Amino acid sequence: MYDVNSKRADDFINHEEILDTLKYADENKENGALIDSLIEKAKLRKGLSHREASVLLACEIEEKNQEIFRLAEQIKKDFYGNRIVMFAPLYLSNYCINGCTYCPYHMKNKHIARKKLTQEEIRREVIALQDMGHKRLALEAGEDPVHNTMEYYLECINTIYGIKHKNGAIRRVNINIAATTVDHYRLLKEAGIGTYILFQETYHKESYLTLHPTGPKHDYNYHTEAMDRAMEGGIDDVGLGVLFGLDKYRYEFAGLLMHAEHLEAAFGVGPHTISVPRLKRADDIDPGQFDNGIDDDIFAKLVACIRISVPYTGMIISTRENQTTRERVLHLGISQISGGSRTSVGGYYEPEPEDKKSEQFDVSDTRSLDEVVRWLMQMDYIPSFCTACYREGRTGDRFMSLCKSGQIQNCCHPNALMTLKEYLMDYASPETKAIGDKLIEKEVLNVPNEKARSIVLENLRLIEQDNRRDFRF
Ligand code: SAM
Repeated sequence: MYDVNSKRADDFINHEEILDTLKYADENKENGALIDSLIEKAKLRKGLSHREASVLLACEIEEKNQEIFRLAEQIKKDFYGNRIVMFAPLYLSNYCINGCTYCPYHMKNKHIARKKLTQEEIRREVIALQDMGHKRLALEAGEDPVHNTMEYYLECINTIYGIKHKNGAIRRVNINIAATTVDHYRLLKEAGIGTYILFQETYHKESYLTLHPTGPKHDYNYHTEAMDRAMEGGIDDVGLGVLFGLDKYRYEFAGLLMHAEHLEAAFGVGPHTISVPRLKRADDIDPGQFDNGIDDDIFAKLVACIRISVPYTGMIISTRENQTTRERVLHLGISQISGGSRTSVGGYYEPEPEDKKSEQFDVSDTRSLDEVVRWLMQMDYIPSFCTACYREGRTGDRFMSLCKSGQIQNCCHPNALMTLKEYLMDYASPETKAIGDKLIEKEVLNVPNEKARSIVLENLRLIEQDNRRDFRF
């Protein structure tokens, strides 16, 4: 039985409810009056239910779809302004005992190079990332209870926060590791992680079991209930995601929103972020072997529909996507992107030799962080290296209240400008710096509160002239 409040995966991601939802969406995909009323509801910026949103995703009326895209763009602007948060993944270890059929880290892959960073290697990676200008990382690892223990992760997090190289610092460490216990989540929280990210891969249980034939990840319920345990362990920023291409995208979309509704109902706070990865070619993985790939138009529609359904949830896109696709979906809802990423274990410090590759998947956007930052600014976006909310304790529902209070423009906007200024001073190429300085000069006028504006102007001066760092509201 579908029950949004239940702590059981089969209840809050209920298969029958998803099938009913898809049927309802199919029956109404040309129902102009209903679609209009749902678009009007979405304009209230309080989100849509999985049923409502599924109708809009299924809608095939061209002019209504254009309206959905326009609304997604507007909601994106209203909630996130033109700020885009920057981050990079850091692969700690690719040892894995799972059998995921889409991931080259699967246990049976004997030719991929297996690597696990030592603390000294982490220092080298992190210094390389700091020297690019990164302040926010997403740690990544395979699942292996012998190699990748909780003690190891805690030690890594401690090492990373402790590295101060020149003006560099990693100020927020997010982590994307296998589902674990409440006690382990509590330890991660105490170690100071930002968001706990775990992709569902697919919400379709039967497919999930086939796609994860062996290893601990085979346990669909344990995996699907992970965010509940994370929240019970005190982590209130959690990041959801589906690996698009594994199962039917409309099924996944309904499941994703049901998961968000469940967290909101059970814990009073929805997901902090939603990621939208698509399956990529990798070491021994050919995406052509999977039947459910989605094209760029459907991908854009998905992003737009997620945007209007959960306006307060950040959306993340990685370098799995190329520049063109990233550009298209940035306008429609993405609020965080990675830049200069490597998906190999140890790949930031030195490139891997051809015969010792450890990458998880092929990166499509291979530009440097400087190039990505410049490109964003040329489109009038403000690349933000801000980590203030997490460091000021504005996580979970406190972060949501900031969004709802309308104070974002007096808080996030100045923080974005000040952290961008730090980046320009410490890491940017002369060309990027020139574009950035002009952008900051223009954007500082958009801080509405006069007092906040004058503080920002003074802090920008201190960053430039006194080499001061780390100002935040
Ligand atoms: N091992 C962790 C777990 O059990 O969830 C997750 C870490 S893994 C490094 C991060 C994500 O990469 C996975 O959740 C999966 O969605 C994604 N991934 C795996 N294989 C991929 C591929 N071939 N193309 C694109 N993304 C892939």
